[in-house]
Amino acid sequence: MEYKRSSALFAEAKKYIPGGVNSPVRAFNAVGGEPIFVKQAKGAYLYDEDGNKLIDYIASWGPMILGHAFQPVVNAVIEKTQLGTSFGMPTQIETEIAKLAVSMVPNVDKIRFVNSGTEACMSAVRLARGFTGKDKIIKFAGCYHGHSDSFLIQAGSGAVTFGSPNSPGVTQGTAKDTLLARYNDLESVKALIEANKNEISAIIIEPVAGNMGCIIPKKGFLEGLRKLCDDHKILLIFDEVMTGFRLAQGGAQELLNIKADIVTFGKVIGGGLPVGAFAARNEIMDYLAPLGPVYQAGTLSGNPLAMAAGLTMLKTLFEHEDIFKSLADKTAYLHQGLEKALEESELTYTINRLGSMISVHFTEEVYDFETAAKGNNSYFKKFFHGMLNEGIYLPPSAFESWFLNNALTYEDLDKTIDAATKVIKSL
Ligand code: PMP
Repeated sequence: MEYKRSSALFAEAKKYIPGGVNSPVRAFNAVGGEPIFVKQAKGAYLYDEDGNKLIDYIASWGPMILGHAFQPVVNAVIEKTQLGTSFGMPTQIETEIAKLAVSMVPNVDKIRFVNSGTEACMSAVRLARGFTGKDKIIKFAGCYHGHSDSFLIQAGSGAVTFGSPNSPGVTQGTAKDTLLARYNDLESVKALIEANKNEISAIIIEPVAGNMGCIIPKKGFLEGLRKLCDDHKILLIFDEVMTGFRLAQGGAQELLNIKADIVTFGKVIGGGLPVGAFAARNEIMDYLAPLGPVYQAGTLSGNPLAMAAGLTMLKTLFEHEDIFKSLADKTAYLHQGLEKALEESELTYTINRLGSMISVHFTEEVYDFETAAKGNNSYFKKFFHGMLNEGIYLPPSAFESWFLNNALTYEDLDKTIDAATKVIKSL
């Protein structure tokens, strides 16, 4: 495949945008080479500026769960646009989507909409601090909760790809309030709680991690966190920015049957427009301004176009619960095909999968950041570029989950498996 036009567009972009991109993971630093510029997308396919067609396994990093340019969402946005694009005043559709979201997600009474996953997680932590009157939080190495200061401490995703786990610009004062535990290791959490008695407001976690590749919680791990939180009056925050409305209607809370105190969302909830949200029971949510003392706001929050896209997306998922099974079946089929190709090779590998999230690591058993970081990146790079050459677009970093979308057909999956079989043989 040729990428002449993408390459020229990238050269031009770099003159005016730092690194030529508006979000670092797009830049291919982890895999080498230059990013591909997209012209349009429909269903499971991306069409780039050079006229190449690619089967998409990132789904805009999660939101396009029903495929690109899903017609009901496109129609809803066009229709709403005619009525004005932002008012800075309340609109009925905000209540409509809030009511539906709260009915789909377990253990929450109220929800507030923001504009990104970063804002959702940042606000959730402020709320937890305000509610509990305590300052510190526990996060897990390799989990990514957006780029607000408190979270850029051994974060996953681009923050690890770029080797700046502690970003300059995050002050020591902020960093000292973020304590780091190991994913899937309850003892590491207990030790932090013990050493910081009555100082921890919240534990924030990706209930299924997607920012160090896909990592599944071990049996008893999330249950153990729940109990520790109950015993020590700590709020458990599930960052469901990736898993929300993807693993099930009620996200990881529903699929894994664990109750969180605050849940954050992004991606699917906005149907591809910039939306984030956080939700909790009344007692906690009523701590927010204008009812309570914790301040949080946004000029474009609850924007009508974003709400129209999100509402249409959630309604579709609400009315067609079979979508989640269909996605999980497709992902299991892909897993089987990849497993066969890898088994026949001499390579060491792990495939982690839950629902429609999956990733391949070129190392043994991966269950936390340390084990993920042992992955052989030179194999990953070759695998990524080999697949790209076959017309398959995977996340351009081993520290990302793949996201399946329901527009993918079994024929697409077979093509992907055939491509992987060929590429793996060449590694
Ligand atoms: N939390 C998680 C689990 C995420 O994966 C991401 C983004 N990938 C975020 C938070 C931040 O979301 P955003 O990029 O919309 O700010």
